[in-house]
Amino acid sequence: MGRLAGKNAIVTGAAGGIGLETTILMLREGASVLMTDITAPGLEKALAKVNEVVPTHDGRVETRLVDVSKEAEVEAAVAHLDAWGGVDVMFNNAGIMHPRDGDAEECPEAIWDLTMSINVKGVWYGSKHAVKSLRKHKKTKGSIINTASMVALVGAATPQLAYTASKGAVLALTRELAIVHAREGFRFNSLCPAPLNTPLLQDWLGDDKAKRFRREVHFPTGRFGEAIEQAHAVVFLASDESSFVNAADFVVDGGLTKAYVTPE
Ligand code: NAD
Repeated sequence: MGRLAGKNAIVTGAAGGIGLETTILMLREGASVLMTDITAPGLEKALAKVNEVVPTHDGRVETRLVDVSKEAEVEAAVAHLDAWGGVDVMFNNAGIMHPRDGDAEECPEAIWDLTMSINVKGVWYGSKHAVKSLRKHKKTKGSIINTASMVALVGAATPQLAYTASKGAVLALTRELAIVHAREGFRFNSLCPAPLNTPLLQDWLGDDKAKRFRREVHFPTGRFGEAIEQAHAVVFLASDESSFVNAADFVVDGGLTKAYVTPE
């Protein structure tokens, strides 16, 4: 039996680094997964990869176009799982870090608003409709995992103020939801990744060695994280193995947020 056998999961941002790796691990552990993202070609490519690396699995896998900042689209995606028996695991993972984000003076208001509507409202909508579905299907347990970031825990001198603020909001709202719904058996945890080898960061860093080193030097491990290292944590939080883990800022950062200086 897989660690997620019989569970129905929705993954947002499933065409991206963390979302795709998580989908793959969830399927390997016996879950059914609805992969959602805002990009159709991205989803197509991601599904092809899933079918290549997990050719057989016990659960279902489907894709669906969803913009997480549009409540009706999130609601419809959650409703789609009614036919599967309702949602058990909601991974609110989609997020953006906009290239025009910056410090307080640099960040345009439109970029602030866009970042908040995807990174914060998207998580709110996903959490809200997951709870409604869990109640509708009379579930006595459920796991909602919301992707924040370690930048919500520490300040950085390479600012992206809207992004940082949005991830701080994810931590705060997740913590409160965890407390509100604890006696219903619905757990809420935040995932706090450190900078990773995924398109979100690596496309932005590009070939700029100085920009890359400015970040890499702070890792005790001497390297960026990998998406699969986040996916393993998500599977744990999604599974019943983490039944007493609730309201956690689940930090997967190679020790970065605990380091003063790093090994030479
Ligand atoms: P990624 O860019 O590879 O994936 C993000 C996915 O979200 C993309 O497929 C994108 O199409 C999708 N997306 C963007 N806007 C959307 C919207 N409105 N609706 C639905 N989908 C949308 O990045 P990733 O590294 O896999 O990031 C996943 C999460 O992890 C994000 O919330 C990100 O902020 C967070 N995170 C990433 C890092 C990092 O270094 N990569 C570090 C900390 C936190």
